[in-house]
Amino acid sequence: MRASQMYLYTLREVPSEAEIASHILLLRTGAIRKLASGVYGFMPLGQRALRKVEDIVRQEMDAAGAQEIHMSALQPAELWQESGRWAAYGPEMWRVKDRNGREFCLGPTHEEVFTDIVRQNIDSYRQLPVNLYQIQTKYRDEARPRFGLIRSREFIMKDNYSFDKDEEGLDISYKNMYDAYSKVFDRCGLNYRPVEADSGAIGGSGSHEFCALCEVGEEEIIYCDECGMAATDERAEFKDAVMPQEAELPLEKVHTPGTKTIEEVCDFLKVPQDKSIKALLFELYNDELTDVIGYVAAFIRGDRQLNMTKLVNALGCHEYAIAFANEGAMHGVTGAVGGFTGPVGLHDCKIVVDSELVNAKNMVAGACEEDHHMINVNYGRDYKGDIVADIKLLQAGDPCPVCGKPVKNARGIEVGQVFKLHTKYSEPMHLTFKDENQQEHPVVMGCYGIGVTRTLAAIVEQHHDDNGIIWPMSVTPYHVMITLCGIKDDVQVAMAEDMYKKLLDAGVEVVLDDRDERPGVKFKDADLLGFPIRITVGKKAAEGQVEYKLRRGGDVEVITPAEAVEKAIALVNAERRG
Ligand code: ATP
Ligand code: MG
Repeated sequence: MRASQMYLYTLREVPSEAEIASHILLLRTGAIRKLASGVYGFMPLGQRALRKVEDIVRQEMDAAGAQEIHMSALQPAELWQESGRWAAYGPEMWRVKDRNGREFCLGPTHEEVFTDIVRQNIDSYRQLPVNLYQIQTKYRDEARPRFGLIRSREFIMKDNYSFDKDEEGLDISYKNMYDAYSKVFDRCGLNYRPVEADSGAIGGSGSHEFCALCEVGEEEIIYCDECGMAATDERAEFKDAVMPQEAELPLEKVHTPGTKTIEEVCDFLKVPQDKSIKALLFELYNDELTDVIGYVAAFIRGDRQLNMTKLVNALGCHEYAIAFANEGAMHGVTGAVGGFTGPVGLHDCKIVVDSELVNAKNMVAGACEEDHHMINVNYGRDYKGDIVADIKLLQAGDPCPVCGKPVKNARGIEVGQVFKLHTKYSEPMHLTFKDENQQEHPVVMGCYGIGVTRTLAAIVEQHHDDNGIIWPMSVTPYHVMITLCGIKDDVQVAMAEDMYKKLLDAGVEVVLDDRDERPGVKFKDADLLGFPIRITVGKKAAEGQVEYKLRRGGDVEVITPAEAVEKAIALVNAERRG
């Protein structure tokens, strides 16, 4: 491609809402254009890179024995009503009506659709296993679209679904997909980590997320160097600390003026924070999110943090249907008092107690009375939980749930996730098969997703410097940039044109920068656009030489055009598959 003919419009300034490198650079290089909040279009360079990520995904899915199909983004409500998710999915689902008032959604995911497709054909064990995939556009009306392609409202996902006759079959399919995902992300040049994950709204149990490691990632990963345990912080189990055994002392109310926080009350009473109980107050909403239908008080040790996902799972509610309580309104119903709420004296609300508190003796807790706390609060004698569960966050330095050594933390971008669905969809949607004895069973399913557009952004996030993108060869829009400095210099032009032709003939994707621009502008753009190989044709052309340089660094080599072409072809062929 000749740069003079390209639809290429780089930006000097990007909107301030672009906070992270991938968002800024994809906009600056003109790879993507914003259409609306969380909705982007792909310009030629972005589209080429995206196609390459898609191709890698497609090749690895095909190699793993999955077959490609393509389903519509538009999905009839009836399918979601069958699975029970029409009501449960919440405000992230983009709901639309046709001219006759029939309800549809723009699919946020496709479990129902694939289950429906397969049930139309499969009825015997002989037809299983099946694994179908698509690379297709998804819609989620995210509460906070941000970071460009990383959290958008329209995005491309590769999703596939496996159908097996039993759990052993599912284990094989799951492992097969897990391995395929590792190959995909290796080939994309990502530094990533598979971690155990919560299975969220899609349900089922058994799940891993593939996280591209980087500081701006929204996913917090907890891992252990000793035993290899790695999980999202949402998922990471917390083994309860062994509490000292003490005799239970008499419950007492004490005056603690103005001590609203754990720190303040513990300082005031001169007790360590692990001897105190922290209260977190929530209100629950109906599915339509119009009314508060109840209150929740969650209690954890004063030095711990609440794990919202564990709380939501313990309550069995939807994440979108729970919010921090309006304390005034909650007081009227439950007796909770902002900053002074404890489990003793609280009424008419669901009490969730962290499992660790059950054996914690003589604790300090709010007294549900302004400026007062209780001391010597003991579980069982003084209060009980409606639910007792591990609802605390495992944080860096806490003991590993597997081996007890202190864990570490890192941040990552979730680029893919694999789930064991078991029979979560096949049962309600009656996807069954007959075994050898004509006995009917629900099909055992798995589902697997890769955020294709998010993966593209994660690649840029991990491969850039202050000057621009540094594309890995496997996904770069073009392999080589030939910068022609003197467009009016016949020797230079002839040399550049000759290399351009030779590289194209060898199947190398190359841009010849033949624009009428100063060399400085061209060099800046070449850095910004970040194709892996740069060949500069300048003054040294007179001596039969060009400059050969890699965008990722290393020395500038002054060599003949023939050598440059040869080197470029060799490197492209060595690295293009990733
Ligand atoms: P998240 O927790 O980040 O909201 P998710 O767990 O809800 O994502 P999945 O249902 O597992 O997402 O979807 C599969 C993949 O699709 C994710 O691993 C991610 O790469 C991608 N994805 C999900 N939501 C978005 C989004 N809003 N924008 C871009 N990619 C997304
Ligand atoms: Mg996920």
